[in-house]
Amino acid sequence: MRILVVEDEVKMAALVRRGLREEGMACDVAVRGEDAVWMAGSTEYDAIVLDVMLPGIDGFETCRKLRDDGVWSPVLMLTARDSVEDRVAGLDGGADDYLTKPFSFAELLARLRALVRRRPVERPVLLEVGELRLDPSTRQVWRGEDEISLSAKEFALLETFMRRPGEVLSRFQLLEHAWDYEYENRSNVVDVYVRYLREKIDRPFDRDSIETIRGAGYRMRKQS
Ligand code: CA
Repeated sequence: MRILVVEDEVKMAALVRRGLREEGMACDVAVRGEDAVWMAGSTEYDAIVLDVMLPGIDGFETCRKLRDDGVWSPVLMLTARDSVEDRVAGLDGGADDYLTKPFSFAELLARLRALVRRRPVERPVLLEVGELRLDPSTRQVWRGEDEISLSAKEFALLETFMRRPGEVLSRFQLLEHAWDYEYENRSNVVDVYVRYLREKIDRPFDRDSIETIRGAGYRMRKQS
C-alpha cells in the first residue's frame, strides 16, 4: 500500500509517515498542494491523506484539482476545526472521508484501511453527459452555457439518468433511485416527470437526450 501524505507541518508529517511505515505501508510526503497534484498524477496512490491548511492552494482546492485531473485515489481530509462547513466543503469537493485534528493514529489507520478497501473508481464531482452538466452539491444544471432550472423531483430524475448514461433504466429503477417511499402513488409518475424533464432539458434546445425504450423504460443517450 502506498500513501501520499500532504501536510506542511514537518513534525506532524514525520509522525504520520513513521507510523504508516511501521504498519508496512509506503509513504510519500508532499508539503504543498501543488506538489501533491503532480505526485498523485504520476504515481497511483492507494490513498491520500490531505490536510486542509496548506501554504499555497489549500486542501479543498488540492482535492478539486486532483479530481479534475482524473486522480480517483481515495482522499482522507484532515480538518483542524470540527466545523460543519469544512467537512461539507471537503466532501463536496471530492474527499471520501475526513478526520478532525487532533486525531488518534489508530483511527487514522482504521479509516485509511476502510478507504483502501474501496477501489479507486471514478466519482466525478460534476456529472457530464454530452452538453449536459449537473452539480449535485449546488443542485445546478446546464446545457452548454445555459443554466436550466429544475424542480427537486426533475433534478433527482436527471441525476439518476446522468449517473448511468447509455443504460436502459426501467420505470421501477427510476422510481427506486429518484423517489423515496413517500412517492406519489401513481403508476405513470415516472412518465409524467420524464415528460417535464424533456420540456426543460431537450425541447428548448431541439435535442432528444432521453430515449423511450418500448416495453423497457428509458435511456439517456451518451451524446445528449
Ligand atoms: Ca497544515
